[in-house]
Amino acid sequence: MRSIGIFGGTFDPIHYGHLRTALELKSLLDLEKVHIVPCADPPHRTAPMSDGALRLRMVEAAIRSERGFVADDRELRRAGVSYTIDTLASFRAELPGQSLCLLLGMDAFLGLPQWRRWRELTTLAHIVVAHRPGWAAPTTGTLGELLRDLRAPSVAELHSKAAGFIHVQPVTQLEISSTDLRDSLRAGRDPKFLVPDSVREIIIETECYAEPL
Ligand code: ATP
Repeated sequence: MRSIGIFGGTFDPIHYGHLRTALELKSLLDLEKVHIVPCADPPHRTAPMSDGALRLRMVEAAIRSERGFVADDRELRRAGVSYTIDTLASFRAELPGQSLCLLLGMDAFLGLPQWRRWRELTTLAHIVVAHRPGWAAPTTGTLGELLRDLRAPSVAELHSKAAGFIHVQPVTQLEISSTDLRDSLRAGRDPKFLVPDSVREIIIETECYAEPL
């Protein structure tokens, strides 16, 4: 059994920080596939600037030629707030017994206690945390304890059971964020080499991050 990666986010827009992280995790953890899951209505932040259909289109464009990557629209098809617990439950219903890895940046992991039914997440999937520039792994508090209690003994163990471990995986640090991208697009700057060309073309064609009139 090879594990399947689930990488959620607003992806407003998707950039090389996301893509390189997903690619390295896929390869380092020997994941069978990585599902990239744009959210519809994020619970803990302001609404995305681009609508779901456009963010999905950019994800599809970004991974078109990449085998083993799936643009997954399940949160966009679901009504209401996009809770990760519901997304994992839907994967689990489709893939009973399959090892699943929820892929998160360290910044997202540090906010975990604010997530809905967060303690149940590891009953449905493993959690894999990618190091992100400027964010250290917690050593104390609830998350520090959780890391100690559930830490995977090895990467291979992630494939040995369906859920329940936490693994922290160093990846190449690319200090790119969608917020910075949107700010620089608003200021009229070119996103070249921060996003794939196919995503850049969609941004230019739709003017989705231009200064609103
Ligand atoms: P924003 O700036 O709008 O908050 P973002 O760039 O942080 O967006 P999200 O779509 O919110 O991107 O992030 C989705 C997931 O990708 C999260 O788990 C986040 O931690 C991770 N992530 C985002 N940017 C990077 C990066 N540069 N390197 C590694 N992981 C990243």
